Amino acid sequence: MENEESAMKTENISRKDFLSLTGKTVAVSAAGTLAVGGLLPGNVWAQSTKKTMLPPASIPPGTSDPIVLEVWKSDVDQQSGPTPTPLPPDQRVRYAVVGLGHLALEEIIPAMVTCKKSKLTALVSGSPDKMKKVAAQYGIKAENCYSYQTYDQLKNNKEVDVIYIVLPNALHKEYVIRGAKAGKHILCEKPMAISSKECEEMIAACKAAQVKLMVAYRIQYEPHNRKLRELVQQKTFGSPKFIEASNSQSSANPAHWRHKLALAGGGSLPDIGLYCLNTARFVLGEEPTEVFAYTYSTPGNPLFTEVEELVSWQMKFPGGVIASCSADYNVHESRHYRVLCEKGWLNVDKAFGYKGQKLMSARAEGKIERQEDISLAETDQFATEIDHFSDCILHNKRPFTPGEEGLQDHRLMEAIYQSAREGKPVKVTPAVSGAYRGPEPEAG
Ligand code: NDP
Repeated sequence: MENEESAMKTENISRKDFLSLTGKTVAVSAAGTLAVGGLLPGNVWAQSTKKTMLPPASIPPGTSDPIVLEVWKSDVDQQSGPTPTPLPPDQRVRYAVVGLGHLALEEIIPAMVTCKKSKLTALVSGSPDKMKKVAAQYGIKAENCYSYQTYDQLKNNKEVDVIYIVLPNALHKEYVIRGAKAGKHILCEKPMAISSKECEEMIAACKAAQVKLMVAYRIQYEPHNRKLRELVQQKTFGSPKFIEASNSQSSANPAHWRHKLALAGGGSLPDIGLYCLNTARFVLGEEPTEVFAYTYSTPGNPLFTEVEELVSWQMKFPGGVIASCSADYNVHESRHYRVLCEKGWLNVDKAFGYKGQKLMSARAEGKIERQEDISLAETDQFATEIDHFSDCILHNKRPFTPGEEGLQDHRLMEAIYQSAREGKPVKVTPAVSGAYRGPEPEAG
């Protein structure tokens, strides 16, 4: 006991004195010095004793600025931080998620747990048993669980600010408009709808209800894709000339809504080809003036009796860039694009996946061909995107990807289908690039 007591003593202060001085818990380091949880003001080492050491930390007041911890890594290594600055739970924007399928259960709802400005407070589903289980898993109150029939009652729920639509494409319009009429802000999955006309109605309904509308284009919030865009737009490798982009996967269930025209609105184009289309526009910051496309479906394959299997198309941009894109529902997963510039190229592998993006660049340096991996900290794309919308609501900003961004993609997809049908290029009236966007999102 005596040994223990002396081992716990620092030069000037005993464990007992320390406890009575602070009323806090005391941890003893291997060296026998004391560390006190939450005792001393920021930016100081323990002042009461030479050997009692707390690492320095700058602790700004409030929750919005990060705690800055003592640096220990050299500049040779990638630095960590900043520490996250989550909003206290009672200040977060509150979401109802509509449609508990693959995307909602596997990505969105788990991501909401990691959000810093958003939280899940309600569910809407046509499957009561599934909803009950999800509600139990994520602590959602029974009175905050709705069916599609009781959906409009969300209007009276003061614990919901935003409705997040994660339904099959053809149901987006109805649930966006009903949600707007319930007075809730709307986050809508991509593709925004199944036609440009529907998008226009959705935008008008949200405007009339004075609620915000954002389309969930997660790639526009993902750091590797954002970095590539920055390098292209800064002309780091000279002017961009050509983009090749491909997003493909393999389907097996012809009964799934993705293979029913009435529910999906199309096949590989609106589901996955949309990523190539939207990302090319995002990266260049320009709008195409002309498209030329082919589609193909293997005869007799029950997956493709209603929707296309393969779509391949080219887009001409006003600055002279041509993008060559493809999407296929009947090949092994492949999701990448490359931007060829005058003095180098930039490439993203797994570009449109949920994680694992790999950004590479290449350029000549004398006799050397220098290829570089540009490795950025991975973030949860869904959490970043959802928190962006919450930030827009908290600070009354326009979203970076508002309804008009979805509308522009639908206009272009209609031109792509028209070109494939007619077998010739189709001119498109360019939108004024980016005019409808809100400010750039905060770094995740
Ligand atoms: P799922 O088929 O996995 O889920 C859709 C859910 O919608 C169903 O589980 C069901 O939920 C509900 N639903 C209501 N009516 C119908 C109906 N008539 N037929 C089928 N389902 C119905 O689809 P996903 O989750 O893959 O896709 C949902 C949306 O998210 C689509 O718009 C899709 O394009 C988009 N998406 C976006 C991605 C992205 O990365 N941003 C990735 C994947 C999809 P319940 O039983 O609870 O009623």
